[in-house]
Amino acid sequence: MRVAVIGAGLAGAAAARSLMAAGASVTVFDKGRGPGGRLSTRRAETPLGEMCFDHGAQYVTATSSSFSAFLSAAGDAGVAAPWLARLVSIDRAGNVDALRGEARWVGLPGMSALVKYALNGVEVRQTRRAKRLTGAPGSWTIRFEDGSTEGPFERIALTLPPEQLVDLLARSDGDFARVISGARQVEIAPCWTVMAATEPGFDPGFDGAKLLGGAVRWMALTAARPGGAPGGVVLQASPDWSQAFLEHDAEAVARILCEEVFVRFGMPQPVWSNAHRWRYAMVTTPAGSAADISDSRTVGCGGDWRLGGRAECAWDSGEALGAALLG
Ligand SMILES: Cc1cc2nc3c(=O)[nH]c(=O)nc-3n(C[C@H](O)[C@H](O)[C@H](O)COP(=O)(O)OP(=O)(O)OC[C@H]3O[C@@H](n4cnc5c(N)ncnc54)[C@H](O)[C@@H]3O)c2cc1C
Repeated sequence: MRVAVIGAGLAGAAAARSLMAAGASVTVFDKGRGPGGRLSTRRAETPLGEMCFDHGAQYVTATSSSFSAFLSAAGDAGVAAPWLARLVSIDRAGNVDALRGEARWVGLPGMSALVKYALNGVEVRQTRRAKRLTGAPGSWTIRFEDGSTEGPFERIALTLPPEQLVDLLARSDGDFARVISGARQVEIAPCWTVMAATEPGFDPGFDGAKLLGGAVRWMALTAARPGGAPGGVVLQASPDWSQAFLEHDAEAVARILCEEVFVRFGMPQPVWSNAHRWRYAMVTTPAGSAADISDSRTVGCGGDWRLGGRAECAWDSGEALGAALLG
């Protein structure tokens, strides 16, 4: 069976693996330059030299046996490691509490390595933005933004964020009204993220902190990550602040968020900064089931947004999507 997976994030990788394990011939397409989706690692030239920032998910956690087994295998392969960091929460008044919880894992050398590892042996084609599906159930052609086409495919697995999924299905042949209506119920909050470089050596007394009450919700030092460069800082704004400043200029966003945190912790002023807007970052209202499939049972959708706002949700959904398309 020829199957196309659209979306090379963690959900797409999990779907591709389960489909391939069942004997399908799978090709993955993604609009980005490399696999990873929101498990993303950015390389940047800064006055301190080249630095890498994990500017999407900071770490992943696992409760399901499947994702735990995957992380354990990735650890054995040297592309994942437990993140043994000093993590705290700090409230407006400055009260500090240790963040407890399950084991946290990071990708090596960056978070996107987890998805690359999951896609090992899978044919992946990057910089292909899918615009619509044409054809009929069991014989689908994908039409891309650049005018090119691929197909026919017997099955299509869509692992795009819901807005992009709705956009694609609304232009496609076939009746996807029910799937579209389900995806429209989902809510995802944006997240402004700032990557900054500052003179190395400063220690605020933690490696990562959940900050309560201000514009910045999360702050992490890259030096505390396995193999991480000294001097890098990642800041993530709260969902409310990100929504309110969604259309703001990126440079202004970087300035505002850096000022709040660098002044508060008495850190040396950043020598470089860059802001990235995740328009669809954190799922706040998930669909509630692991995957959905069209009435013809030939086109299905999955992604973290089916189950919740964590990488493990993407993994579990991708596996369920693969199974649904095979069933
Ligand atoms: C700032 C931030 C912090 C986070 N922190 C954490 C955390 O600490 N822990 C945690 O567990 N999770 C965290 N998450 C959530 C986690 O990153 C996601 O749950 C997970 O990566 C989602 O995977 P996915 O495959 O469902 O979607 P994505 O990773 O979004 O993958 C979707 C893919 O579809 C591609 N695509 C979209 N449209 C098209 C198109 N038309 N054609 C082709 N390709 C297309 C995109 O390029 C992308 O690669 C965070 C997310 C963000 C943004």
